[in-house]
Amino acid sequence: MPLLVQKYGGTSVGSIDRIQQVARKIIASRLAGHELVVVVSAMAGETNRLLALAHEITEMPDEREKDVLLASGEQVSVALLTLALQASGQAARSFLGHQVRIATDNAYGKARILSIDSTKVLRALDAGEVAVVAGFQGVDENDNITTLGRGGSDTSAVALAAFLNAQACEIYTDVEGVFTADPGICPGARKLARISYEEMIELASTGAKVLEIRSVEFAKIFSVPVHVRSNFSDVPGTWLVSEEESMSDVLVSGVACDKNEAKITLLRVPDRPGLAAQVFGPIAAAHIVVDMIIQNASDDGTTDLTFTVPKADHKKALAIVEKTAPAVNAQGVRLDTDMAKISVVGVGMRTHAGVAAKMFEVLAREGINIEMISTSEIKISVVIDAKYAELAVRVLHEAFIGKQGTV
Ligand code: ASP
Ligand code: MG
Repeated sequence: MPLLVQKYGGTSVGSIDRIQQVARKIIASRLAGHELVVVVSAMAGETNRLLALAHEITEMPDEREKDVLLASGEQVSVALLTLALQASGQAARSFLGHQVRIATDNAYGKARILSIDSTKVLRALDAGEVAVVAGFQGVDENDNITTLGRGGSDTSAVALAAFLNAQACEIYTDVEGVFTADPGICPGARKLARISYEEMIELASTGAKVLEIRSVEFAKIFSVPVHVRSNFSDVPGTWLVSEEESMSDVLVSGVACDKNEAKITLLRVPDRPGLAAQVFGPIAAAHIVVDMIIQNASDDGTTDLTFTVPKADHKKALAIVEKTAPAVNAQGVRLDTDMAKISVVGVGMRTHAGVAAKMFEVLAREGINIEMISTSEIKISVVIDAKYAELAVRVLHEAFIGKQGTV
C-alpha cells in the first residue's frame, strides 16, 4: 500500500468536533488504499497559552524547561486523535517524538532533526494501525525533549515523509494552498497550482506563513512532493515540486510581507578589520539568525552597522549587542521593531534582468522609502516602514503578477 504522511495543524484539531472530522478524513484516506502516518500540532492557541504560563513566572524561561512545557501541547492532540480513530473502529497508535525517536540537535526551541528511526512506526503500520505522531518535538542525544521552533510540525511531517520514503506529504491547513500574495492584504492574489521548492523557501523565509521554512528545505533535499491543501474542502491545493523549465517563464511567482523582524543598528563604529566578526560572533553563538546586514562607511572612518533578527529574538540580540557595543567603541545602539520586509520571488529572475529596478520604481511612485535591500538569485527584499507594508504588497502584486508583468 502506498504510504502517505498527512499533517493537520492547530486549527484542524482545535476542538473535539474538529478532531472527529480529522478522524473521518483519515479513515476515508485509509479506505482509498493508503497507509497513513499522521502528524498533528497542538490544539489551536495551546502553544501560546503554555508560553504565556511560563512567562507569568519569568520573562526568559529556561530553554530546556520551556521545551518540556511546549511539547505537552502535541501530546494532548495525538492522544485525542488516536482515541477518536479508535472510537470510529480504526486501529491507531500515538507516538511522541522520543518514542519514534526523532533525533535532533540540542538547540532548544529551534532544534534540527538529524535522523528518524522508522522501526516502531513501520511496525505499527504493519499491524494495520494509523501512526499518529506528535509534531514539533524531538529528543537530543541526552534524552532531553526538544522543540523545532514555531510551526515546526510541518517539518516533522516532511521529515517523516523523507525518512519513511512516503509517496507524498499532505499538509492540511486553514488556507487553500500557496497564494501569489496574502489574499487578506491583496484581493487579486491567486492560488498557485505548483511552485518550486526554491521559490517556496524564499517565500517562507520572507513571511508567507503557509509552511515552516525548514520543512521546505527538507522537502527539497529529499525531493518529497508536498501537497499543501485545505482542511475544509477537497479542492486540490498547491504542489511543491522540483523546478520545472516552464516555471522560469514567470518572472515573479509571489510577493511576501514579513513583519516579524526587528532592526538593530550599531552607531558609528570605527571601521576596522575584525569588527563584524566581533559583533556577529556572539549573536551566532546564541543561535540567533541574522537576516539582512548593511554597513555604511563614512568619511571619518566610522560606520553604521545595521542588521535584522527575528522579532522573537530581539531582546536577546539587543542584550548581546549592548554588551559588544562598548568593546567595539560604538557610539550607541538603536532598535526598531516597526518595520516590514517586502519580497518578490521568482525563478524567472535567474534569466531576466530589471526586476529590482522595476520594484524600486513601483515603490518610489507611492513615495515609499526603502531602508535596506537584499537580493538572492531568485528574490529581492526591501525593508520599509511597517505602516506601508500592505500598500507595498498590493502595488507590487499589481505590477508583477496582476498584469503578468514583463520588464
Ligand atoms: N504547536 C506548535 C506551534 O504552535 C507547532 C505547530 O503548530 O506546528 O508553533
Ligand atoms: Mg502551525
